[in-house]
Amino acid sequence: MKFLPLSLLLLPASGFVSVPPPTTSASPSFLPATRRPFIAGNWKMNPSTLPDAVSLARSISSSVTPSTPCDVCVFAPMPFIDACRTAAGASGEGSGLDIGAELSFYEEKGAYTGAVSAEMIKSLGVDWVLAGHSERRTMFGDDDEEINKQTLNLLRKGMSVVLCIGETKDEYDAGLVEAVCTLQLKKDLQGVTEEEMERIVIAYEPVWAIGTGLTCPADVAQNVHKVCRNVIRGMYGDNVADAVRIQYGGSVTPETIDELMGMPDIDGALVGGASLVKEKFERIVNFKSV
Ligand code: PEP
Repeated sequence: MKFLPLSLLLLPASGFVSVPPPTTSASPSFLPATRRPFIAGNWKMNPSTLPDAVSLARSISSSVTPSTPCDVCVFAPMPFIDACRTAAGASGEGSGLDIGAELSFYEEKGAYTGAVSAEMIKSLGVDWVLAGHSERRTMFGDDDEEINKQTLNLLRKGMSVVLCIGETKDEYDAGLVEAVCTLQLKKDLQGVTEEEMERIVIAYEPVWAIGTGLTCPADVAQNVHKVCRNVIRGMYGDNVADAVRIQYGGSVTPETIDELMGMPDIDGALVGGASLVKEKFERIVNFKSV
């Protein structure tokens, strides 16, 4: 694991103060039965070809066994989804690997060149869709209003959503972690009902940790997850807050997964780069309790 630069470790007292101080001992997480861990891969715009995608899906699928301690999904590029689902046996009995979509547009149909509707994705048999990934927010201009519309639309179609939130490095340095995550949760979940929250997973992904090799220290991530759970508690009450799964995302590796999964409020991971390497993703989804 690479070390964080000093600027990221020195938390300004002003802004981060309401996040509980990092715990020094990682208590093992005994998740309630309702919080089965969920680890997902995000392939982004990889791999380059359909045969490579199918071969990767097939080999990852063989890493998911009945003793794998979590639900496993891979978010694949749109043109590869159908073939990857077949390769992974995702639509068949007993398959452990689900294949999801990386994006959706909220309109039903019409003159939206290049867009893909929830209905189209659903017609492939897909259940899980990402919303709010930081790369969508920064490169494609998906703002909270748009992400909220995508989320509501997917839920109303009966689908499930991994909703990504997280602060940039500037926001982290300014001590705005709690404020940013709270605001994103409130805006992105506006109008989502208590019943629909059963089909929401939150992915806390500090933007500065995505694709950088800088994993957020597990105890710092735990504190932010606890804050997020408490925001959900304020919005929906104890039952939803205690049941909602919150993944950590940001340069997760085989070396960092066990400690992360040992944290009581970390219920899984969203994994980019390491999900493209079968051996790494296999070790991550078969994490060990510490
Ligand atoms: C991601 O794409 O959501 C992600 C966390 O990427 P990486 O694991 O490569 O940082």
